[in-house]
Amino acid sequence: MKAEIFSIGTELLMGELTDTNAAWIAGRLPPLGIQLQWVSIIGDNLENLSEAFSRGLQRSDIVITTGGLGPTQDDLTREGVAMALGETPTVQEDALTELQQYFQTRGTSMPSHNIKQAHLIPSSQFIPNPHGTAPGWWTERNGKMIICMPGPPAEMHPMWEVQVEPRLREIVQDEVTLTRNIKTMGMSEGAVDEVVSEFFGKENPYLGIYSKADGIHLRIIARARDISAAQSMVDPIEAAIVERLGPYIWGYDEDTPERALGRSLMARGLTLATMESSTGGYLANTITEVPDSAIYFKGGVVAYSDTAKTAYGVPAETLRQHGAVSQETATAMARTIAHNLGADFGIGITGVAGPLEEEGKPVGLMYVAITGPAGEKELQLRVPPRRITIKRRISNTALIELNRMVNELDQAPD
Ligand code: ATP
Ligand code: MG
Repeated sequence: MKAEIFSIGTELLMGELTDTNAAWIAGRLPPLGIQLQWVSIIGDNLENLSEAFSRGLQRSDIVITTGGLGPTQDDLTREGVAMALGETPTVQEDALTELQQYFQTRGTSMPSHNIKQAHLIPSSQFIPNPHGTAPGWWTERNGKMIICMPGPPAEMHPMWEVQVEPRLREIVQDEVTLTRNIKTMGMSEGAVDEVVSEFFGKENPYLGIYSKADGIHLRIIARARDISAAQSMVDPIEAAIVERLGPYIWGYDEDTPERALGRSLMARGLTLATMESSTGGYLANTITEVPDSAIYFKGGVVAYSDTAKTAYGVPAETLRQHGAVSQETATAMARTIAHNLGADFGIGITGVAGPLEEEGKPVGLMYVAITGPAGEKELQLRVPPRRITIKRRISNTALIELNRMVNELDQAPD
């Protein structure tokens, strides 16, 4: 089955709003065995919408849209579908009553514009929307489908998960796509590429390599009639990758460095504290993205100046002797914060975030230190001199390296 996605709204064309809906839906189509062929952004313009729907129905089996289902005059998705199909929307009394009740329970009466949300054409049905006023439209004609959902992600996501996806799964039975993501850190893209080179260049199963802020990812994609057939295509490649890259692998699929670390710390009842300079709290922010982080994260401080570093207990002598941007200072930061907060592990980060060099050291030179029950790890890194890149890379590196140290504790002799 071939599909296309329309993201509808003039705001999207003006660059005022970034289209995240299309990518969100795109990621959910492969497991259903639906092949996405096109993604379009279309403004709130009736002729353009109608033309796009006509073309979509010719070249695709399914058109999925978000946006333009609201009550205002510039919400024209329904009108576009009706025009392309040459059908006339009529008001549905049941839906109108429901809509009026929706407003009543909120203590107001329904604005007259909302009446258009109670309209249907003969080929369409409503898709209920418990999170807003705009129901979706499910349209079928001549074996083709148009699925229209509201623009706000908070309404669209549950509509997709509860209504649309289960229905599509029943209709589409062609084939499934299985994806396995393997995440590594510590080897360059070229080196990873070389180690698994014989698997590249095939269409099915397909192996892709991607350089990300949290390392090099390998993605295996297999298409087959059912999940177990797809799994047996993925398994041998995964086994080879694990065998060759084992020590560099830190996670799979939806893992993030902070979640992987959180699991490792929690499993052993260990705790962490951080002192950051150039990452400005990015590391602590990332750690606390995990809902359970309060269990293992004792806290972090941003010690941006020398004054702050000494106030938090970094020896003034270390700063004087080695400078703020030094391995010695990073290590002193890690030790100090772990000691002060009574944590098992401490992370210290210092470096040159730019735009100017400091202490004669170049922008992007970073020092990370990790202290823990089985010793210390010191890292000197050079990162491209862009502030957000530095923050992301260094935070991810610190989290992944610490996760390694935690996992190695099991192997260390007592
Ligand atoms: P509403 O009833 O809220 O008007 P709607 O279906 O008419 O819903 P739009 O008016 O097109 O949707 O968009 C409403 C809001 O939904 C936008 O302001 C934006 O916050 C979000 N939104 C719409 N389209 C997208 C998109 N493609 N990606 C991310 N967010 C979107
Ligand atoms: Mg709207």
